[in-house]
Amino acid sequence: MLLPEHDFVKPATLAEGLAVLRDAPGDVRLLGGGTDVVFNMRCRLLTPDTLLSLKDLPELQGIAVLPDGSLQLGAACRLTDLVAATVLTERYPALVKAFRAVASRHVRNLATLGGNLCLDTRCWFTNQTKEWRDAKGPCLKTGKDVCHAIAGAPVCVALNNADSPPALIALEATVTLASSRGERRLGLQDFYREDGIRHTVLEPDEILTRVTIPPTTDRLVFLKETARQGMDFSYGAIAVRADGSGATASRLRIVLGSLTTAPRLLAGAAERLAVLGLGDDGLDAACATLRDELGPLTNLYSPAAYKRELARILLRKAVLELREMQA
Ligand SMILES: Cc1cc2nc3c(=O)[nH]c(=O)nc-3n(C[C@H](O)[C@H](O)[C@H](O)COP(=O)(O)OP(=O)(O)OC[C@H]3O[C@@H](n4cnc5c(N)ncnc54)[C@H](O)[C@@H]3O)c2cc1C
Repeated sequence: MLLPEHDFVKPATLAEGLAVLRDAPGDVRLLGGGTDVVFNMRCRLLTPDTLLSLKDLPELQGIAVLPDGSLQLGAACRLTDLVAATVLTERYPALVKAFRAVASRHVRNLATLGGNLCLDTRCWFTNQTKEWRDAKGPCLKTGKDVCHAIAGAPVCVALNNADSPPALIALEATVTLASSRGERRLGLQDFYREDGIRHTVLEPDEILTRVTIPPTTDRLVFLKETARQGMDFSYGAIAVRADGSGATASRLRIVLGSLTTAPRLLAGAAERLAVLGLGDDGLDAACATLRDELGPLTNLYSPAAYKRELARILLRKAVLELREMQA
């Protein structure tokens, strides 16, 4: 499958890149490591006029500890480099586990943090070759007013299948978005939208430049369920963060990934565990909230009932793991 014809631009600075994004005619697509973009171009899901490479922009590089103890990660950092960074392995082993859960080493050698956070949503009916899609006909995402996954769905229900958002949202990470109009910073949980087509709040002239993680000594667990580790996208993933130690915690953040169009923060389950503790009573009460908190689920990739059960199992496993950890 040949790549569609396109221009390739490799700016030397962020300002230059932002100017290209603002001024270039036609569709400009940002390129991190290209592990998803290039694949989608080969499948003719994307046919940009211009690819704008961010990989070597100096402003998007590096891992830095800020004076207040926060950790700042450049959006163009390769996942391989994040997995190997001592400051991350020492402070946030569960976050490193999430980065390592992305695909294989070969993919992580190219893939960037920004690319993983902005990874397009995926659907069984869309992420196929052009010939396959042509046989089925277009959908909401590919230009027609119909959803093949859920008849009558008013909005695209493709899934956010990226592995790093749940752990970063649990850590209350923020993202910085730059454009030639200036910069804005927002919590990563507010970056995502429940819309498989416009799945983030990123504007067409914006680039995600860095991720900032506030300092914490809380416990964090990340789990991913998949068919083949080191190769496959997730069936479901969870990140659970808690203060305290053993079965005691007063503040928790629970985030599910890969089950819905945007990563899902489970406030009700977290509140149950904070009130009742991480023992069996708290865990049962937290699991009982899941059906309501998850709401209707699509049958994409697996039946909705399977997804609900998987969410329960992931929560149980994560909390059992948390109980064994000291803050
Ligand atoms: C075989 C295979 C297995 C995979 N398995 C997994 C998996 O298990 N888990 C997983 O999470 N992913 C998986 N992926 C998908 C992908 O490889 C990763 O998500 C990767 O992290 C994407 O990063 P990238 O830099 O290559 O992104 P790119 O392909 O360069 O970009 C992805 C998207 O992000 C946008 N983008 C990139 N950088 C920025 C930025 N700084 N600001 C704004 N937008 C930006 C691009 O325009 C594009 O829309 C897999 C891919 C393959 C080929």
